[in-house]
Amino acid sequence: MAKKSKKSAGKKDKDKKKQKDKARKGSSSSTSSFTEALQVTDGFVLADVDPRSTPHFSGDKQAGKDALAAADDELDALQEKLYAESRAGGRKRVLLVVQGMDTSGKGGIMRHVVGAVDPQGLELTAFKVPTAEEKKHPFLWRIRKALPGPGMIGVFDRSHYEDVLVVRVHDLVPPGQWKRRYATINSFEEKLAADGVTVIKVMLHISPQEQKERLAERLDRPDKHWKFNPGDLDERAHWEDYQEAYQVLLERCSTGHAPWFVVPADRKWYARLAVQQLLLEHLRGLDLAWPEADFDVAEQQERLADL
Ligand code: AMP
Ligand code: MG
Repeated sequence: MAKKSKKSAGKKDKDKKKQKDKARKGSSSSTSSFTEALQVTDGFVLADVDPRSTPHFSGDKQAGKDALAAADDELDALQEKLYAESRAGGRKRVLLVVQGMDTSGKGGIMRHVVGAVDPQGLELTAFKVPTAEEKKHPFLWRIRKALPGPGMIGVFDRSHYEDVLVVRVHDLVPPGQWKRRYATINSFEEKLAADGVTVIKVMLHISPQEQKERLAERLDRPDKHWKFNPGDLDERAHWEDYQEAYQVLLERCSTGHAPWFVVPADRKWYARLAVQQLLLEHLRGLDLAWPEADFDVAEQQERLADL
């Protein structure tokens, strides 16, 4: 991996420290982590989650933005450590799956959270309507091809869960077929976890009112027309069917080896902070270590001094 340029010390460090002090003020104490606050566990009911809420964070929008900026360096450092471990033979990698209704902010997560990570350590895949080639294969075929290698952070913008979402809502395959997929997905993800993949699945949860506003904005602003897809309105008409499909997959596929996290997403700043913190908490949990030198450091220092 290419060496990164050292950021200039001094003022920048002071700014960061100020940001961190401010950011810390926002963290809430009723839960111990974003992981705990957002994880889908037994008895979970999607309809009970307020899309405007900000679990595990009591600060305002500015505090949230400060906290996001303050954590960039740690995320960057942990990613580099993950990569370094893999160079020494480590198998660990991370797969962040991002799902959500149209306009839920998946693109913003890619730009503002994932975008802060060194691109060399990232493998980002956006899953669209399957191509003719992809349709010839089982639904996990294109997913397997996109899995991150050791040391990498893989990010899925949509995923195999579309195969129990849009496919279920529109019966794109016979019900008998999509019904089997929950179990197929669980055993697939269990094997991933056993192979060193930390799977983090995030659903960005927005309200129908918020979606309406975001779609209206896309129509109002010529610089956002490119983001508008008339098909999004057809999908919006199936809102309740999608919520039900999400409820079922959250119930059936939030497992110990690959849990789901529901992130309230009507406030974009919160959703971005929450996904970043989920990623950070999971990376910290990997207990990453810098690989030991496979050469004699003192000997190399002596050699260098003489050159
Ligand atoms: P976007 O993410 O807005 O670019 O849109 C991608 C579109 O691809 C969405 O409408 C998804 O529902 C659709 N899509 C993704 N995966 C599948 C799938 N497995 N089967 C059918 N449609 C899919
Ligand atoms: Mg779209």
